[in-house]
Amino acid sequence: MSTAASLPVLSACGVHVTFPGRRGRESARALDGVNLDVYPSEILALVGESGCGKTTLARTLLGLERPSAGDVRFAGVPLAYSPRSLRTYRRRVQLVLQDPMGALNPRHTVYEAVAEGLRIHGAEALGSFGDEATKVADALSRAGLRPPERFFPRYPHELSGGQRQRVVIAGALVLDPQVIVADEPVASLDASVRGEILKLLLGLRDDSGLSALVATHDLGLAWNVADRVAVMYLGRIVEAGPVETILRSPEHPYTRALLSVASTAGGNPPVILSGEAPDPSHVPAGCRFHPRCPALASGVAAAAGIAEACRSVDPGVLPGGRGAGVACHLYPPSS
Ligand code: SF4
Repeated sequence: MSTAASLPVLSACGVHVTFPGRRGRESARALDGVNLDVYPSEILALVGESGCGKTTLARTLLGLERPSAGDVRFAGVPLAYSPRSLRTYRRRVQLVLQDPMGALNPRHTVYEAVAEGLRIHGAEALGSFGDEATKVADALSRAGLRPPERFFPRYPHELSGGQRQRVVIAGALVLDPQVIVADEPVASLDASVRGEILKLLLGLRDDSGLSALVATHDLGLAWNVADRVAVMYLGRIVEAGPVETILRSPEHPYTRALLSVASTAGGNPPVILSGEAPDPSHVPAGCRFHPRCPALASGVAAAAGIAEACRSVDPGVLPGGRGAGVACHLYPPSS
């Protein structure tokens, strides 16, 4: 576990992102009040089913979506959306996509792919390196492609899936970012190379002090790589805390259901969620998870005297920060 400094490097502060509805449909509340902080030298896993808002949050943190309310802050300063501010910002916060084949131009060599960012950002991106080739070689080497010069003339189709993902990571590292936002970074890779890429992310955190927000539906990945976990459901963080706490002792019924499907540890049967599929155009009243909540369906919530609140009272938005939290009436904030 890393020792993180006390101030977050990247934050979502009360972020809402609403997409207009099409053909008379209601607008979609893709992000509905998200507070999330990423600290220096930490890996934060953002987990949840597809469609929960992970990718929208990742895009918003990258400045690719503009919040309809709230703001994104880098080192405490709200992000401005002028082209010049965004250009500077994107050197500091870099994206790593799930599909390296899609992220790489098949007609560009590895050298061209990694040098592209340097060319966009100009001389200041070279830093103390002075020349482009040395900087590209350093990035490839840090991404584990050694000796780097051997990879310069190769094309994406000549590389393995793991090597392609390393090229994508080198393309991010070449700009010396402080944060990487990775959307399902190993989802398209074989199990045998997933571990290598995760080890690379851990090495970058430990050796370079890099922070990463890793959006994933894979709790096993979170367990292997993350310092902290934030669980997302229908546009909100519903549980957050240190990885050991969340994955060993989950509290929110949604986190429990996710974990029960991911692991057969303890021999417990998986919790199959029923009820309406989450739809950001129709966020339920009360607790947004209540139509699918196993604790409500099984009578646990009624026994605790909270069933009515589950249906009518929003458990609220979790604060950011490093502490653990759960948005569920079973766990009132004072308990
Ligand atoms: Fe379930 Fe109620 Fe907790 Fe929501 S507030 S997760 S419905 S127990």
